[in-house]
Amino acid sequence: MTGINPFEVAKQQIDACAGILKLSPSVTTMLKTPMRELHVSLPVRMDDGSIRIFQGFRVQYNDARGPAKGGIRFHPDETIDTVRALSSWMTWKCALLDLPLGGGKGGIICNPKELSVGELERLSRAYIRAVFQFIGPERDVPAPDVYTTPQIMAWMMDEYSIISGKQQFGVITGKPLAIGGSPGRGDATARGGMFTIREAAKTLGIDLSKAKVAVQGYGNAGYHAARLCHELFGSEIVAICDSKGGVCCKVESEVGIDPEVAYTCKNQTGSVCNLPGMEYISNEELLELDVDILIPAAIENIITDKNAGKIKAKIVAELANGPTTPEADDILYKNGVHVIPDFLCNAGGVTVSYFEMVQNFYMYTWEEAEVRERLDKKMTAAYHSVLNTSREYKINMRQAAYVLAVERVVAAMKLRGWI
Ligand code: GLU
Repeated sequence: MTGINPFEVAKQQIDACAGILKLSPSVTTMLKTPMRELHVSLPVRMDDGSIRIFQGFRVQYNDARGPAKGGIRFHPDETIDTVRALSSWMTWKCALLDLPLGGGKGGIICNPKELSVGELERLSRAYIRAVFQFIGPERDVPAPDVYTTPQIMAWMMDEYSIISGKQQFGVITGKPLAIGGSPGRGDATARGGMFTIREAAKTLGIDLSKAKVAVQGYGNAGYHAARLCHELFGSEIVAICDSKGGVCCKVESEVGIDPEVAYTCKNQTGSVCNLPGMEYISNEELLELDVDILIPAAIENIITDKNAGKIKAKIVAELANGPTTPEADDILYKNGVHVIPDFLCNAGGVTVSYFEMVQNFYMYTWEEAEVRERLDKKMTAAYHSVLNTSREYKINMRQAAYVLAVERVVAAMKLRGWI
């Protein structure tokens, strides 16, 4: 933990954007304030018979463009301010991808690694009972995020359906395929990021088949990112890490890390740092490696004013939410690092979630190829509109993404007569 408050970062980013767009103080205040939030206490019976009370949150940041949308995180360091920041980023993400959705986010303060399957299920169901009145297919639609899985989405959808007295598949996305999930949702965040990396490489004239890649974080986003960089582009994965540390290929290696072997290693030993034949590397060292593409795929605030100047990558593709602080952004921009900002780079997840909602409403399933094609179209279009805006206004890619997204949210609020 860096001690940096992500919501302060999120508000600073909105202020910068408001300056560029010359927004009035009242509109700026509205954009920096969550519209609704719910704080809940969740009593859960533990396996030993005791009762533990967990704290949970759900924030609907802004729903001018449609029902709030965004994941639920299970994390020991969760705070209301992390959830507020993440729900604000969801608002800009959905607007940037031009999805008819607002932004929301949820979280429970817990360490899922210390809970049994039964305890996790009871916690997930307790959360839905507590937020039942607040969410819904036309109000606020949760999804997976850090340490939440399709199985957890399944329990949550089931609990919501039981309380409603009818099948409500559209209340949550990221579900398993057999109960209303969308083909292609599993690796959608990483795959969406790949489309933006492909376009960025074209912009910068980088040959991805010769590119060296470092990935920070080896959860859903990080693992699939490493796998897809290898599979789609033939890039070499030179370093990966997770919360326990990482590994780097020996200098003379030409083949790099096999993402599947690393995945098995993490599952069997608890961390990718036990991968044999590699050099141990810390999370901090990984960020500063001499690579073409750096993919932060874990948590917030890992690129700060302390290390931004040491980043050698040509492209920073932010699959994580909020990995870079505003001070670090300035340094990267000055140094000519091409940042694909989080709410563009990782928007593949929510985009396929939106496709999942559409399929649920129609009771129809698309082929995976169709999902991928539609995702490619959306991500490619969003990347180029951000790039063009950044050139037009002479601002960095994150500010350009903000300009586009905020303009759309402000337009919706105006049309609805809110401002
Ligand atoms: N949690 C993902 C995100 O941060 C996905 C959200 C969703 O699918 O609603 O974008």
